[in-house]
Amino acid sequence: MISLNINKSRIINLFSFLRFRLLLLIFMIVLPFFGVIIYTSMEEYKIAAAENKNKAVELVQIAADSQNQLIEGVQQFLAVLSHLPEVKGRDPSACNVLFSKLLQQYPSYANLGISQSNGNIICSGVPFHRKLNMSDRTYFRHAIETGRFSTGNFQIGRITGKPTINFGYPLFDQTGKAQKVLFAALDLSWLNQFASRAELPPGSILTVLDQTGTILVRYPNPGKWVGKSIPDIPMIKTILSQHKGIEETTDLDGNLHFLGFTSLVGNQETGNLSISIGIPKQSVFSGINHMFTLNLTILAVTMILGFLGAWIGSDFFVLKKINVLVKTSNQLAGNNLSARTGIVYGKGELDQLAYTIDKMADSLQANASAIQYQATHDFLTKLPNANLLHDRLDQAIKTAKRNNKSLALLMLDINHFKEINHTLGHHFGNLLLLLLGPRLQNVLRQSDTIAHLGGDKFAILLQDSDINGAKSVTRKILKVLEEQFILADHPVLVETCIGIALYPDHGETSDILLQRADVAMSKAKEEKSDYFVYIQDEDHNTPRRLVIMGALREAINRNQLILHYQPKINLKTGGLAGAEALVRWQHPELGPIAPDQFIPLAEKTGLIKPLTYHVLNTAVNQCQSWCQEGININVAVNLSTRNLLDQKLPDDLMEMLDKAHVLPSSLGIEITESVIMLNPERAMEILKRLSGMGIQLSIDDFGTGYSSLMYLNKLPVNEIKIDKSFVINMLTDKDSDMIVRSTIHLAHNLGLKVVAEGVENKETWDRLKTMGCDYVQGFYISKPLSAEQFIHWLDHSPWRINRQMNNTGPKAA
Ligand code: C2E
Ligand code: CA
Ligand code: CA
Repeated sequence: MISLNINKSRIINLFSFLRFRLLLLIFMIVLPFFGVIIYTSMEEYKIAAAENKNKAVELVQIAADSQNQLIEGVQQFLAVLSHLPEVKGRDPSACNVLFSKLLQQYPSYANLGISQSNGNIICSGVPFHRKLNMSDRTYFRHAIETGRFSTGNFQIGRITGKPTINFGYPLFDQTGKAQKVLFAALDLSWLNQFASRAELPPGSILTVLDQTGTILVRYPNPGKWVGKSIPDIPMIKTILSQHKGIEETTDLDGNLHFLGFTSLVGNQETGNLSISIGIPKQSVFSGINHMFTLNLTILAVTMILGFLGAWIGSDFFVLKKINVLVKTSNQLAGNNLSARTGIVYGKGELDQLAYTIDKMADSLQANASAIQYQATHDFLTKLPNANLLHDRLDQAIKTAKRNNKSLALLMLDINHFKEINHTLGHHFGNLLLLLLGPRLQNVLRQSDTIAHLGGDKFAILLQDSDINGAKSVTRKILKVLEEQFILADHPVLVETCIGIALYPDHGETSDILLQRADVAMSKAKEEKSDYFVYIQDEDHNTPRRLVIMGALREAINRNQLILHYQPKINLKTGGLAGAEALVRWQHPELGPIAPDQFIPLAEKTGLIKPLTYHVLNTAVNQCQSWCQEGININVAVNLSTRNLLDQKLPDDLMEMLDKAHVLPSSLGIEITESVIMLNPERAMEILKRLSGMGIQLSIDDFGTGYSSLMYLNKLPVNEIKIDKSFVINMLTDKDSDMIVRSTIHLAHNLGLKVVAEGVENKETWDRLKTMGCDYVQGFYISKPLSAEQFIHWLDHSPWRINRQMNNTGPKAA
């Protein structure tokens, strides 16, 4: 069953091949011809068989007639002899002489003679010496008993010693009783010679049998068969039992024959001689067989030629094209989209198919290249994106390595880009980004790559460039960017800073080069210079940094992070207005680690959330325990970029406050502008919720970002903290002084309180007081202190306050 199924499926598989189908078609066309040939041959066989049966009947009849004539001839001969005196007379010697003379005349007879009624021979043509008796011979007995001409069986003559067939003719006395028998022995060898003269179809066999089944005559090959008594052979049996007929039977030699047979004249009582003629089927059908084989061969050859033609022809006319189509389709499926059939399109179906496949390949290729383009180019500027830059950088590094050359990677960032976006709108920002590429292109070589990495960040790959080349290109870039951009009629001046990293001096892989160019760019920004070439030490991604990153989580879990508190003083009353909580980390091995070192890391690794929660929790609990000691001050906590994207923060904070029984108004939150600008909508939403809870909100490090006060005013903030860089410099730097003053002025106009950070001396304190600043914070008042130190400071510092917070100012300055 299984093997049957396998065979079936194999055939079905085969059938799916076009070539096989073609061959099958040819076979099916040829098949009826085979049928016709077989059918006509069968008909021919039938006709030939019928014809030959008739022929056999006819031939046997003719042969029988001639044999009958022969026998009748014998009868007449004997009848004539019976009237001769030598025969009638009593002189045996006269009789002997006559017969011997006759024998000479008629060589067909082996002997002629007379027997007495008792069987004793009294006269013979062939002399005999002994006393011989014939009474046992059938022909003799029959002739005596019936008084009629009788035929004998095969016998070897007792006188002649020859194989003969004998005939007896009765001689009557006066009373009419058969007294003697005149006999004639017909020589079988003569008879066989006679038979050989019969004109028979080639291969035919003539046989004469006596009634005992002994062969008398046989043509051809009498020597082998004559005298043989074989009544049990089927053919002989048929002849002896049926007397007359036509049969298909095997002859003595074992070949199939159409056998016609009949009995010869003779006595019913003694039985007759029979004659048969066999026409070999072989010879009858050989013509038809020959024709049949010839036809079959021709047809088979035709079919094979047809198969061959189909095999080769299908290759030429059909399969060649189909194979091309299949190959092309496979190539396309294997993502080789440049594959085409190469077929010249005609009107045929296969040509149409080839056309369709080629068209399909065209559009696939077009789509693929569009996708490829999108994957490697910036959507807005159409410049190569970070992916493509990466690839090109990899490639360029390989080439440089091979040729022992160096290359430079420039990282460029537009200063105040956010300001342009916010003041003029995103459309203008985009326009600027669009114009930047072509302008940069003007000062670069064709082989250099400008990539847009997103936002306002661009990278420029300078192939085959050393430090001097990189610097010179950088200066050219800066020069060309000094010229103002016209953004829809608005002239805009653009400031950029560029970081430079070189292969192989600063890094040997694309990742490292990109990172180092970025570090260099940050440094340029930090130093407010146009460009900066990477220096190892400036990279903060040192092993120490990595160690810190690894240890930070543990530090949070193990409570290694503690809070210090820096007092905030009301400048007008001189009283304590609150404290800013600042995180401190005392690492067991690395020693104290400044927040500036680990906060940015925490922001990058996602540890900022647990860190902030830890700080918030500690601050809230501290607030609560101070409260119990009668110190009711506002404790402010710094929030990071990511914290302000965390929707859960307000609820979690509320829960913390509830748990510690601390009023939300006792908590302050400090956020920088950049935090808000990252996602203004989300930040706005969270800030609103925090403010709604009653939490005090401050904008930290004001002046370092690009946002305007007008914009910040839309936020639910209570105060701004002027960045310490302005405050520290305000006594020496007029610009800083001016910025501090105008900020205070503007903030007040908008209803915001102002905190000055970084107050390091009395002069600054005083100056701020004249400017109308609300609060101050800085080393002049106090460094950030641990909780215990803070209590101690409260009790001993010049700004000592009573625990009810009604102190009006410093006791001493
Ligand atoms: P910040 O929020 O501007 O904090 C004020 C920083 O100025 C503190 O540095 C403080 O020690 C320092 N400072 C105070 N008075 C003076 C002064 O008179 N002169 C000078 N030169 N410096 C003064 P610190 O503690 O090293 O913190 C640095 C920054 O780390 C903070 O700047 C804040 O942005 C961040 N930070 C600190 N603690 C946390 C925190 O718990 N969470 C978050 N997210 N950030 C924190
Ligand atoms: Ca702060
Ligand atoms: Ca600050």
